[in-house]
Amino acid sequence: MSKIRPKNIIKGFTSDHTEKSKNRLLVCSGCEFRNKLPLKLSNCQVCGCLVDAKSKVEEESCPMNRWKDIKKIEKKGIIVGNLSEDITDISVVDEGVIFTFKDVIKKGGPGKVNLRVINDRAGEAKQFKADELDLTHLKVKVACGCTTTSDSPTELAEGDNFDLTLSYDTERIGAFEKNVRVMSLQEEFYIQIKGEVKN
Ligand code: SF4
Repeated sequence: MSKIRPKNIIKGFTSDHTEKSKNRLLVCSGCEFRNKLPLKLSNCQVCGCLVDAKSKVEEESCPMNRWKDIKKIEKKGIIVGNLSEDITDISVVDEGVIFTFKDVIKKGGPGKVNLRVINDRAGEAKQFKADELDLTHLKVKVACGCTTTSDSPTELAEGDNFDLTLSYDTERIGAFEKNVRVMSLQEEFYIQIKGEVKN
């Protein structure tokens, strides 16, 4: 449990929000470990800290490691956060995000990526019209049978999020790069998982 260090408490209350702290708060906003008070007054039930104050202190971290890999697909108004332990890198490209596995996966071993997708279309960029802020008719599509996904909602309102699990069939030996398309009436982006399976 990583409780905010006493020397950082005042800093947390007196600093302004940055883009990074706002992204952290978006992750907290949909987190099952946050109590359901308004975000400004809300505590993390794992570390006990006020999430608003803690998010503003650069060197502080989420006790469940959910702040470490948050990436924004700028033009799409989407934030993607990593919920997995075994991902080494998340990179953002124009049209999506790429998750790369840290280690070579053993044949039949775990090949799952757990992530959180957040609708941040009202965020800093503000390039969307009011009626484009919600993502409607949402669909997640995989390119081939070696990758499957968990269920996803069909609508994602502004500020809302959902968790998605992508599973690769690790009975297949070799390097892989698999794309999953996330589509809605308003937007489309892709999530790629990348790695290698060996005997
Ligand atoms: S700090 Fe981490 S565990 Fe706590 S509410 Fe935020 S995202 Fe959830």
